[in-house]
Formats: sequence, C-alpha cells, structure tokens
Amino acid sequence: MLALAGIPLGLSFRFLDPAPDAPAREVGELLVGAYDEPALLDRLADGADAVTYEFENVPVAAARRVGALPDARALEVSQDRLVEKALFRRLGIPTAPIDEEVTSFPALLKTRRLGYDGKGQRLVETRPGPAPGHVLEGLVPFDRELSLLAVRGAGGETAFYPLVENVHAEGILRSSRVPAVAAPQAQAEDYAARLLDELGYVGVLALELFDVGGRLIANELAPRVHNSGHWTIEGAETSQFENHLRAILDLPLGSTAARGEVVMLNLIGELPDPGALLEYGDVHLHLYGKEPRPGRKLGHVTLVDPTSEKVRAVTDLVLKQH
Ligand code: AMP
Repeated sequence: MLALAGIPLGLSFRFLDPAPDAPAREVGELLVGAYDEPALLDRLADGADAVTYEFENVPVAAARRVGALPDARALEVSQDRLVEKALFRRLGIPTAPIDEEVTSFPALLKTRRLGYDGKGQRLVETRPGPAPGHVLEGLVPFDRELSLLAVRGAGGETAFYPLVENVHAEGILRSSRVPAVAAPQAQAEDYAARLLDELGYVGVLALELFDVGGRLIANELAPRVHNSGHWTIEGAETSQFENHLRAILDLPLGSTAARGEVVMLNLIGELPDPGALLEYGDVHLHLYGKEPRPGRKLGHVTLVDPTSEKVRAVTDLVLKQH
C-alpha cells in the first residue's frame, strides 16, 4: 500500500520480506530473506533515498543498519510493552494499571514482546505466579476503542487525522469508522504530539486509545502506517501511506482532512465473493493477494458517505464468511 501511494509520485520500491509470496512482490523488487541478514539489508538500502518499515517486529539492529525512518528508537519502545508503558507515563499519558497496580480480576496477561492482533495475551482469573517475559494488565472498562493516526515530517511539523472508532473481536481489528462521534480529538492530539516530539519521530504513527467516559487511556503505539488508517486511501485528502512517504522523504505533508463519513471493514480469514461486493458501485475493494487462513487479514473494503442500509448490507456480505 506504501508503493501504491508512492508510484504516482514517481517513486519506485524495493522490499525485504521473509515470505516469497509477500503481496509487495506485485509492486516492486522483492528481496526474500530474514530481516536481520546483513547482506540483504545492504542490498535493500543500496541507492535508496529512504528506508522504512511497516511491521513493528523488525529487529532494532536491522533498522539501525539501514538508517530507517522512523528511527529505531520508536521500534525499541513499541517492541516491549513495559518500556512503552513507562514512556507513556513519563510523558503524562494515562495507561492501564500493570502488575502490582492491578487489583481486580479477570485481568490480561500479555507477553512483553512480539504481541500483535491479540496474539500473546490471555485472560487470567487470579493473580498469576511469577511470569517472566509477561506483563499483567488491568482490564479497562472502555466505552469504545479509538485510534489516532499522526504524522511528523522531517522538519518537525505535525498533522493528525480525525479520531477513528475501531471495533475488535478476538483482538483483531474488524472495522473502523470516521469521524468518531464527539471524540476528544484535542486530548488525543496532545498525547500523540508528546510521543512524536519525544521520539524525534519521522513518519506516520498510530496511537491506540481506550475511551472511558471521554477520558483517554493509551493502549499502545504502532510506529508505522496502521490498519485503522486504511480508510484514508479513499476517505482522506491524503492517505496515511502517502503522508508517511512525504514525511520520510522530507516533502511537505498533505491534508489529513476526511472526505466525509468513512467506514472500513476488514476481510478476515476467508474472502466474500468480490463480485457481490462490487455490485455496489461505490465500494472500494482491496485484496492483498494472501492465502486465506483463519484470523488472517486478506483485504478490506471502504465506503465513503454510505447510507446506514448500505453499511448493513456490505457488513452482512463480509460477515457471511465468518
Ligand atoms: P493489544 O494487542 O494490546 O493491541 O490488544 C488487542 C485488543 O485487546 C485491544 O484492541 C482491546 O480490544 C483488547 N485489550 C487489550 N488490552 C486491554 C485492556 N487492558 N483492557 C481491555 N481490553 C484490552
């Protein structure tokens, strides 16, 4: 999706991915191999104006070797839930209670590292014994989940998309809606700006938030373009992908305004009939060319200014598969 946004700007792309069938092979040169293989990293960066990543479990040393933007510090923070929470707290950003602060159960036991899409977390009914490599997290009684897509340019200028309201099931994002009704936009922007400035961040960052009665609690940050920002491809003046490229190439940032009310639905596990979705002339369908597998994100659809009936009908088509 980064390449799809960059090709019209005259950019060309080279990718590194461990999977030979990575979707990126369709839109640039694909190097296949481990993220930490020095020879491949050097080939990846050879002649490039900028190197970036869109997966937060890329090794920090690999990001350092290629001089990636955003720089490796953001990866270090986001790869360890304890370091991440400590940073939030140092910057005055509220978070869920952890470890000995947790007083009510059930609570969530999460792995400190390598968790995403709800992987590496489970509910526990009582306080567990010593669990090295894990963090115990109090359940936040949230009204809804929100995310803020933020971007900071190479010169330090910032821009923020409207807050997104997200629905998850089994820890996996199912749908996003913009704008989130009566959302605390200024509070979210203030928190994100503190993170961007502290990290000297360049590129798009996603801040995942719980809304508890209008008060925001930070869940985690993703130092990359984010699934809850896929709606920006058709739904915003400038997509998160284009703005990420503009930022890391030291170009002016584009407008982050939404083009209306936008709904994004993920296609997970199995694909619905594309023809049935495309019967609706204004459904934007994105298929990633991935092999179907339970829980895997295979694509998404976006609707701009849809009627509620259309959202219901398209949701039914999408959910029929689950
Ligand atoms: P994570 O892997 O931390 O992004 O968690 C995935 C999803 O699990 C979140 O989007 C929430 O739906 C849920 N979740 C994670 N942490 C908490 C928490 N402390 N309280 C309530 N729900 C949570």
